[in-house]
This record gives sequence, C-alpha cells and structure tokens, in this order.
Amino acid sequence: MVSHVVACNERKDNMKSFDVVVIGGGPGGYVAAIRCAQLGLTTACVESWLNGENQPVLGGTCLNVGCIPSKALLDSSHHFSFIKHAAKEHGINAAGVTMDVHRMIQRKKNIVQTLTMGIAGLFKKNKVEWLKGHGRFISANQIEVKPVGEDSGEAYQVTAKHIIIATGSVPMTIPPAHVDNELIVDSTGALAFTDVPRRLGVIGAGVIGLELGSVWNRLGANVVVLEALNDFLAPVDRQLANEAEKLLRKQGLDIRLGARVTGTGCNNREVTVTYEDREGKQHVVFDKLIVAVGRKPNTQGLGASAVGIAMTERGFIEVDESCRTALANVYAIGDVVRGPMLAHKASEEGVAVAERIAGKAGHINYAAIPWVIYTWPEIAWVGKTEQALKAEGVAYRVGSFPMAASGRARAMGELDGMVKMISDARTDRILGLHILGPNASELISEAVVAVEFDGSSEDIARTIHAHPTLAEALHEAALAVDDRAIHF
Ligand code: FAD
Ligand code: AMP
Repeated sequence: MVSHVVACNERKDNMKSFDVVVIGGGPGGYVAAIRCAQLGLTTACVESWLNGENQPVLGGTCLNVGCIPSKALLDSSHHFSFIKHAAKEHGINAAGVTMDVHRMIQRKKNIVQTLTMGIAGLFKKNKVEWLKGHGRFISANQIEVKPVGEDSGEAYQVTAKHIIIATGSVPMTIPPAHVDNELIVDSTGALAFTDVPRRLGVIGAGVIGLELGSVWNRLGANVVVLEALNDFLAPVDRQLANEAEKLLRKQGLDIRLGARVTGTGCNNREVTVTYEDREGKQHVVFDKLIVAVGRKPNTQGLGASAVGIAMTERGFIEVDESCRTALANVYAIGDVVRGPMLAHKASEEGVAVAERIAGKAGHINYAAIPWVIYTWPEIAWVGKTEQALKAEGVAYRVGSFPMAASGRARAMGELDGMVKMISDARTDRILGLHILGPNASELISEAVVAVEFDGSSEDIARTIHAHPTLAEALHEAALAVDDRAIHF
C-alpha cells in the first residue's frame, strides 16, 4: 500500500499521462484496457469498486454482483434441486438432504474473489495501470481520480489522449418499494441472503428476477413474482416464453402477470406489498422482497455533461455506431450506452473501441448477440423472434424439434423444451434460433457462429453433429425447416 501513496505523490508533482484511460473496470472496461495494452498503448483503468472487506476490486457488476455470483448460486441450487427431485429417477437414494446456505454463499464469495484477483493479475501481465479510485472528467483529456478504500488519499489528475467510459449500470429503483437492505433488497442483496426466506416476493419477471427467484425457490422459498406486464418474457419468442412460463410455474414460481406494485409497508419482520391487477387492489406478505425492475446507466459523479459529452433522455451516454461520444477522443461502451445490458456485448465493444483507437477496424455485429436466461431449462436465442418477423412482414420458414425426441436429452432425463429455427423463406438465411432446454447457454454458440457467417438452415443441416448430443436438436430443427427432420 505504501507504493500506492508514493505513486499518488508522483502524480501530484508530475501529472501522469497515458494513451488511453478507461473509466470503469467491469467486463467492458477491463477488457478494453487489456486490448489497448496488447496493442501497445499505454493504458490505465480507473475503478472505484470496493468489496465487502473494503478492498478495491476489478470486475464490475458482472464479477462482483452479477453474472458470476448469480450463476454460482444457480448452479448450487440446481444441484440441490436435482438431488431432491430427480436423483431418485437415476437410482440415487439421497434422503434427508439439507442445504447449508452459509457454505453456498461462502463458495460464491470464493469464486468471485478468485476471478476478480485474476483480472488484477491480467492487468499486471499486460501492464495496465489500475488507478484505484473514482474518476471524474476535468476536461476532454483530463481525469481526476479520487482514491477509495482504506488507503484513500488526496485526489490527483491524469491526462489521456483517448478516454473510454465504461461506468456500467446500477439497479433501478421504484418509489413504491424503497430498498432498505433489510426486508427489501435489490439483486445485490438477493445474492447474499444468509438463510432461505420462507415467503419471498420478487418485483419484475425479467431475466434477473427469474434467475434470483429460481435460486431461492429451488432452496425451498415460496416465491411470488409480480410483473406489471401481461406478457411473460416479452422479448422472448412467444412459443418458448409460453412453454417456459408453464415449466417455471410447475417448479413452484407463483408468477402473477399484469400485477403492478404500487406500495409496500414494512414492520420489523415482514413486508406487505400492495399491487394492482385486473381484479383491483391486492396485498401479499413476504419475509423478503427483491426489487428486480431493471438497471439504469451509471454516470454518477462522472462530470461527463460538464465537458460536452451528450446524454440521452434516459441517462445513457450518447454514442455513434463506433461507440464515439460527442467528443472525438472519448468513447463509451457497455451498459452505459444503448443496446442490450449484457457482459459479452460490453466486452466486444471494449475490444472494438481499443482496435479503433489503435487505427484498426473494430467490428461488432449487433445482430449476432446471444441472449441467455439461466433458469432451468435455460432459455437462449440469437436473432429475431417469430412475432417480430411477423410484425415486420418478413416471409420465413420455421423448423422445430422437441428436446423429448433427443436421445441425449432423454439419457439425461431432461425432456423439457425445444429448439426452433427460423430462416428466410426466399434465401434460407437463419433469421433467428431459439432454444429452451438444458445447457441452452452453451448450445446457442453454434447458432451465433452460423448467424455471424450469414449461414442458412441448409448449412446447419449439412453439418455433422456428434451423437448423442443435445446439439443434434439444432441439427434436427434445421432439417425440420425443410420438413425433413429424421427423429420427429
Ligand atoms: P459494469 O460491470 O457495471 O462495470 C462498471 C464499473 O465501473 C463498476 O465496477 C463501477 O465501480 C465502475 N465505475 C463506475 N463509475 C466509475 C467512476 N466514475 N470511476 C471509477 N469507476 C467507476 N450479463 C450477462 O451477459 N450474462 C449474465 O448472466 C448476467 N447476469 C447478471 C446477473 C445480475 C444479478 C446482474 C445485476 C447483471 C447481470 N448481467 C449479466 C449484466 C452484466 O453484469 C452487465 O451487462 C455488465 O456487467 C456490464 O458491463 P460494464 O463493463 O458495462 O459495466
Ligand atoms: P428487466 O428490465 O428485464 O430486468 O425486467 C424488469 C421487469 O420489471 C420488467 O418486466 C417490468 O415490467 C417490471 N416492473 C417494473 N416496475 C414494476 C412494478 N411497479 N410492478 C411490477 N413489475 C414491474
């Protein structure tokens, strides 16, 4: 820590200057910083995140309170649920199985720690300087860094030829459900419950609400999900969304659609939620309530507008198709700009911007971004849904294949779900590929590659898939586009 203080003093006397300063060390920012350094640019990354022990860490939302910890808990709770409900079918007798929530949470913490330390190691290896503090624009080329953590000292300034904003997003809040981090929590609080709530409410049936609802439902909570919209998972292909809704309800999630939360009242043990649905005003009582109503761009204390960086009405940083802001030397990437709030989208934008700064041709195909919802079965897709194509008046063909007809799915005991391929009726180009099924998150990659290469259903149909694999369901769906599926 002494070396940090010395470094700060050096900067005070003699302002440090870099080719690139990245503000934010999440999957957008840290990947951008590493790629810049690989391309020979002197690079620093300003990051202000402190973990539970008040230590500065890299990795942003994704590693600390997002993708990784949620998947750790989804995996733990999936194993528990398998042992309780499905193991018997395999001949495994496991009576009296219990869940040690403390141990599960500790495991999650260890995973997060290993991975965030890994990013610090990658910074060292690539000679990216990590500036542990909060970054704020002083001018188009100058950033003030206010150190954070135990050894926080005086603010100092750095200069940069190019600046990349990667400040991410934070949970959205709604006035009727104030997050008190006791009874009412956001996604971060829901990843750290110390025991299983008996009655758990979730506001919002989006990706995060369903994933967190699934975790605690599998561990024994009675989960009620309140969703204002009438459609379940509106962005998902309707056929798969309807099927997923049925399966999640069967698992015990009490999903109430058209239910807009209008108020909450807490005593010191429970929270009463008021919502309105078609029948009028309703009340429901929970031991814990998760607010999962979406995320908003994070530009707090960044000073972006003051130096001429334009913002959208909804608070995103305005960028062109190259992620360039209103200032020619300043770029913005990830959750803080338009587009899906996904870690891999943030990272790809980071790589593309680094390459543009280095004079190369950074490239992103926004039409080939995979989406995944890590419920069980998982839901994954790339490209357009059938309802979107219908609305656009595009002529298309559909091929579907049920998981129940897959030999591998049957061997696994995972019969729920399907693969649905949609291709252009005239050219056969794949327009959308939708999977509801086990390991959909992994299976989708084949379809993403096909879309990236402008592939057709015929291309997948002519590709040899190993037997027995779940991927054969994609092969069969491709065959089904031309009415020639073999196994269904
Ligand atoms: P972030 O990861 O939010 O990082 C921004 C960083 O900038 C933060 O570390 C912050 O401390 C720092 N920062 C902000 N302002 C400043 C400043 N002025 N100075 C210094 N530092 C600053 N996405 C997926 O693709 N797959 C998933 O499975 C998935 N699961 C998720 C589960 C949950 C519960 C949540 C909440 C999110 C999930 N996401 C998932 C979304 C994913 O986490 C985000 O899309 C991703 O983290 C965005 O990356 P980013 O780099 O743009 O921003
Ligand atoms: P996402 O944006 O995918 O994370 O999903 C958030 C969900 O929360 C959306 O489907 C919203 O419709 C839902 N939502 C937002 N506000 C409320 C509210 N007051 N009551 C119930 N659902 C809400």
